Amino acid sequence: MHPFAKLGLDSWIQKTCDKVGYQNPTKIQELAIPPLLRKQHVIANAETGSGKTATFAFPILQDLAKDPFGVFAIVLTANRELAMQISEQFTIFGSSLNLRVSTLVGGVDFNKQLSELERIPHIVVGTPGRTLDMIDKSPVLKEYIENVKYLVLDEADRLFEDSIIEDIQSILEFIPQEKQIILATATINDDFNDKKLNEILKTNVKFERFCVNQQKKVVQTLKQKFVLVPEMVKDQNFINLLNKFKGISMIIFVNKCRTCHFINALLNQLEFSSTSLHSGLKQGQRISHLKTFKSQAANILVATDVASRGLDIPTVDLVINYDIPKNSDDYIHRVGRTARKGKRGLAISIMTQYDVQLILNIEKNIGEKLEELKVDEEEALEIAPKVNKAKKFVKIKMSEDGSSENFDKQEQDKKSYKEFIREQKKLKKVENNKIQEEKQ
Ligand code: AMP
Repeated sequence: MHPFAKLGLDSWIQKTCDKVGYQNPTKIQELAIPPLLRKQHVIANAETGSGKTATFAFPILQDLAKDPFGVFAIVLTANRELAMQISEQFTIFGSSLNLRVSTLVGGVDFNKQLSELERIPHIVVGTPGRTLDMIDKSPVLKEYIENVKYLVLDEADRLFEDSIIEDIQSILEFIPQEKQIILATATINDDFNDKKLNEILKTNVKFERFCVNQQKKVVQTLKQKFVLVPEMVKDQNFINLLNKFKGISMIIFVNKCRTCHFINALLNQLEFSSTSLHSGLKQGQRISHLKTFKSQAANILVATDVASRGLDIPTVDLVINYDIPKNSDDYIHRVGRTARKGKRGLAISIMTQYDVQLILNIEKNIGEKLEELKVDEEEALEIAPKVNKAKKFVKIKMSEDGSSENFDKQEQDKKSYKEFIREQKKLKKVENNKIQEEKQ
C-alpha cells in the first residue's frame, strides 16, 4: 500500500507525492491528515519544517478535486514570503488540477492582483492586511469569498497578536460561519484553549489538537551555544566569529530593520558575501534577496524576524543571533531555520551584559541550557581597527544616502501606528460601554 494511501489520500495525491519525492508522511501529516479528511477542525502544532503546508494542502485539494470552485479555501499568514511559499506549494501540489492560486501580499502591484482575482482563484493565500484591502477593492473576491469551505491560519500564534487580530476578525465577517478551520503553528500558547479560540474566531467548534515534539521545543540535531562579549566590543567579536565560519550557509538574525541594513552593509564592506531581508525593503527587493540567498549566490542572509517563521530555506548550517530576541518563541523560530529534516545545525547567540535575562528566559522556555563558546579576545582585538574603519564608512554612507533618515521615519511611523491602534481600542471600549448602558 502507498504510504500516503494509508492516511486516506487519493491516488492522484499519492502520485503527486511520488513526483515531489515525499516517500513517507511526516509525523504531523500522519496525525493530522486523517482527521482533516474527516472534516474535523484541527490545530497542527509542530516544529518548523515538519511538512505542515502539505498537512493542510492535501486534504483541501482532495476535497476541491471532487467539485472544483472558487474561492474554495483561504490561507492567512503574517509573513509575505511565507504566503508566497505556501502558494508555490499549492501550485505544485495542484498542478494536475489546473489549480488557480492567488497570493495577496503587500508590496505587489494592486492591479495585477485585481486581474488575477478576476479569474476566480480556487485558493487565496494572503497576509491579513492586503487580503482585507482586496476584499474591499475587488468585487469578485468579495462575492466569491462567500463560498469559502476552508480557513487556514498559518503561524496562528503570530496572527493572534494585537496588531493583526483585528484584520483577521474583519476578514471573518466575509467568510461563511460553516467552514473547516485549520490552525498551523510551531508554538501556540497554552492560553489558546477552545473557548478563547472560539471567541477570537467567532465560532463554536471543537478543535482536535495534534502536537509533535512538544516536550523538546528545539530539535535534537541542533547544537545551541552562546558567546559572552561586552557590548562595547560586540562587533569585533562578531566579525571574528564569522571569520571562523567563512563560506558556510548562515542566517544572522537581528531585532531591527536598521540593524539589518547596517550589518549587511558592514559585512559587504568587509567582503563577506551577504544579503538582507527585512520589512523596510520593497517587495521586489525582498524576493530577489531571498533568491540570492536560496541560490547560494550569497552565503549569508542578515534578517529580522520576517525570516524567522516557516520559510523553507534548505541549506542553512548556522544561525547567529546577533541580537537576542525579546520573545523566547521567536528564538525557537529563528533557530528552527537550521537543523531541518534530521540534518545537523548550529545556533550561536551573541550575549552581552544586557542580554543575560533574555537568555535565561529562553533557556527556561526551551528547557535546555545553552553551552558557552569561548571567544578569542586577542584575535578580536587584532581585527578591531579594520572593523571600526568599516563601521565608520557604513555609518557615513547611511547618513549620506538617506537610509538613516528613512529608518528614523519608519520607526516613528510604527510608533504612531501602535498609538493609533491603542486609541482606536479605547474608543471602541467606550462605544461598547455606551451600548451596554443604553441596553440596561
Ligand atoms: P513545511 O513545514 O510545510 O514548510 O515543509 C518543509 C519542507 O518539507 C518542504 O520543503 C516540503 O516540501 C518538505 N516536505 C513536506 N512533507 C514532506 C514529506 N512527507 N517528505 C519529505 N519532505 C516533505
